[in-house]
Amino acid sequence: MPGITIDKNHCKGCELCVRACPQQIISMSKEITARGYFYARVHDPSRCLGCCVCAVVCPDVAIEVHAHGLVYNVLEY
Ligand code: SF4
Ligand code: SF4
Repeated sequence: MPGITIDKNHCKGCELCVRACPQQIISMSKEITARGYFYARVHDPSRCLGCCVCAVVCPDVAIEVHAHGLVYNVLEY
């Protein structure tokens, strides 16, 4: 099953992934990181398509996508 991992310590809370996800399954935490940012999290992981849109739009490369037995990181595109 596809899914993503968000490294909250690299997230700066820009919300681009929240707006970009076609399934609208990413939202912002109400907690902040040590750097003082609200961070993105997946609230309904079972609906993830593994489309990689969130990883592509993230300016901080904080998102990895797991799909079809592979791990996609935007640095590898
Ligand atoms: S991989 Fe696609 S469906 Fe899954 S969280 Fe990212 S944008 Fe949404
Ligand atoms: S696009 Fe990246 S930096 Fe922006 S909220 Fe999402 S995970 Fe955080």
